[in-house]
Amino acid sequence: MIKELSVPTRTIMTPGPVEADPRVLRALSTPILGQYDPAFFKLMNEVATMLKIPFETKNEVAFVVDGTSRSGLEAAMSGLIEKGDRVLVPAYGRFGYLFVELAQRAGAEVKLIEKEWGQTFDPEEVIQAIKAFQPKVVAMVHGETSTGQIQDLKEIGAYCQGNNHIFLVDAVATFCGVPVKVDEWGIDIAIGGTQKCLSVPSGMAPITYNKRVEKILTARYQLELGLSNQIRNPDFIQSNYLDLSQIQRYWNSEHVNHHTEMTSMIYGIHEGLRLVQEEGLKARFARHRLNEQAMMAGIQAMGLTLFGDLTSKMGTVTCVEIPEKVDGEAVRATLLHEFGVEIASSFGSLQGKIWRIGNMGYSSRKENVLHTLGALEATISYHGGVVNQGAAVLAALAVYQNQ
Ligand SMILES: *Cc1c(COP(=O)(O)O)cnc(C)c1O
Repeated sequence: MIKELSVPTRTIMTPGPVEADPRVLRALSTPILGQYDPAFFKLMNEVATMLKIPFETKNEVAFVVDGTSRSGLEAAMSGLIEKGDRVLVPAYGRFGYLFVELAQRAGAEVKLIEKEWGQTFDPEEVIQAIKAFQPKVVAMVHGETSTGQIQDLKEIGAYCQGNNHIFLVDAVATFCGVPVKVDEWGIDIAIGGTQKCLSVPSGMAPITYNKRVEKILTARYQLELGLSNQIRNPDFIQSNYLDLSQIQRYWNSEHVNHHTEMTSMIYGIHEGLRLVQEEGLKARFARHRLNEQAMMAGIQAMGLTLFGDLTSKMGTVTCVEIPEKVDGEAVRATLLHEFGVEIASSFGSLQGKIWRIGNMGYSSRKENVLHTLGALEATISYHGGVVNQGAAVLAALAVYQNQ
């Protein structure tokens, strides 16, 4: 017989999935409720209400799409786009290209503008591209996990609001770790993540959208044939599972049946969002900022180089150039197997060039930062790299002492 489940203890310092808060793990083991149980509807409503706090929005609509974060991104794209609609994607890393892929699959005419990895866009460049292409949707990543860069969104959002373009934002890796101001920045539809700064397991995509988006979705609404043949729509959304117009009506007071909501995961996100509320957004962002500063100080004191434009560095990921003659994958393996510490490599042109160290949610803790720095320093030396011995942890401790 296969042995009972047994997993090693890990310090997860990747950009997701990260360690889940123990309170979330406890909530996940709560007994199941039926999907029409009023007690369960109450929990769904509470989740919807609490989601609006980290999204900093007064939108009526907020819920989770069942599926990992990209299910929310795909639902948003396929709900907004009909064949031939124009989508502008300014991409500065891997997840920008995911938007291209999703838009093309939805039948869009896509215009891609690109930035070298490690940089972000000047908002004016994006606005010029919008003026030239006149897209229905502008799709951008807020925090680009693959390069550790964060994009300024406010001016682009303001332009979209004033000019009838829908601004779709992937805030998967920033949601609950750094500010994501949906209303203030003019974001029409935003998708967050669970396994990143919210510290809930992967499998749900928090989403919120405003009236402009709701109007587009409602115009395409079709009620499922098995429930009634009364609402047919020639412009129906291609995907049934990811049909936001239907899912919205499952989450609101109509409770029109769609899928079977993931009971246990709702318990998990309910507790995760309660933790966000309890800590307070300001304090949560300050905690992430402090741990980021300690990590950066340690990395630099060690003699390593941070990757990318530091003026647009993302607070929830720190990218480090792999020193010459050091095998980045060998270092990651030793970190994992000897120290129980997991850090990430990167994608595409950055594969083998940088390590990515996450600073997210429950994993964003002083002991994790200190443990990771100590382990990384020893591991690089072990693999023949040159570092300033003993400097990293001291530099990080100094940041904590001076706070
Ligand atoms: C992690 C991540 C995703 C994909 O999330 P999944 O949960 O794996 O689907 C999308 N965008 C960004 C910016 C991410 O960091």
